[in-house]
Amino acid sequence: MKKLAISLMAATLLAPAALAQGTLPGPKTVDLGSGLHVIIGSGGNIGLSAGADGVFVIDDQYPASAPANLEKIKAIAGAAPDYLVNTHWHADHAGGNTAFGTAGAMIFAHENVRKRLTAEVPSTGIDGKAWVAAPHIALPVITFTEGADFHLNDETIRVVHVKASHTDGDAMVWFVEPNVLHMGDLFFNGVYPVIDLRSGGSVRGYLDVMKETLAKVDDKTKIIPGHGDVGTKADLAKQIAMLDGAVKAVDALVKKKRTLEQVIAARPLKPWANYAWSFISEESFTTTLYNGLKQ
Ligand SMILES: [Zn+2]
Repeated sequence: MKKLAISLMAATLLAPAALAQGTLPGPKTVDLGSGLHVIIGSGGNIGLSAGADGVFVIDDQYPASAPANLEKIKAIAGAAPDYLVNTHWHADHAGGNTAFGTAGAMIFAHENVRKRLTAEVPSTGIDGKAWVAAPHIALPVITFTEGADFHLNDETIRVVHVKASHTDGDAMVWFVEPNVLHMGDLFFNGVYPVIDLRSGGSVRGYLDVMKETLAKVDDKTKIIPGHGDVGTKADLAKQIAMLDGAVKAVDALVKKKRTLEQVIAARPLKPWANYAWSFISEESFTTTLYNGLKQ
């Protein structure tokens, strides 16, 4: 009994540290030079290239934040977006498509983004509900399978599809000459990532793509994550180390044929508990890794 009381007290004393959470930055706009900016707010980070040839935008967050984001873009670029690339179909990245399309942006995305937005492929939204087709104006006008190069504002903007990872329709965007990369949701800087198995995502694919990307960046590359602050190669390496460790820890239990309940109880992600945040708890990320690795 005495032992129990002591261990309970120890648990109480340890609780604040165990509950420490990863956090995301508040709303702000970051100037990366070379006409490139990042708008950090609610939802996925918006990338922006503004120059003589036009206004090129990556992602547009939620419907509710779209009018304010369009105003921010006009204030920086002097005009509404001409081109918009969706890194994937999630509503915190493509939810502003209706407003941006109405404002005149031509929308580009991987073909699977369009298939999910139209509900041609039945999908579950980030709210967990069955997806209902987006309005016509919100749909990508041009779709690609491998990628596309844009030649704008004295820059090569290389949009590259990556294999099944966060979803089955992800693209990253390289600003080649300025050495800036927008990774979409293949990079959550400092917090557990979302790996959307219901949208064709893959745990092993996600880790593969992160590692392949690490090999392509250098110490000067500015990396725009889908969520979190603009990072460096070192930040990406740290995130990969977390995910690599977490995958190995959960996979060891999967190989021992443990049930999901047993794995959650064993807390294999305890060394990385501080990556939990408002949207992804340690338990929910454990569940994603377990389900993904069992596939
Ligand atoms: Zn996403």
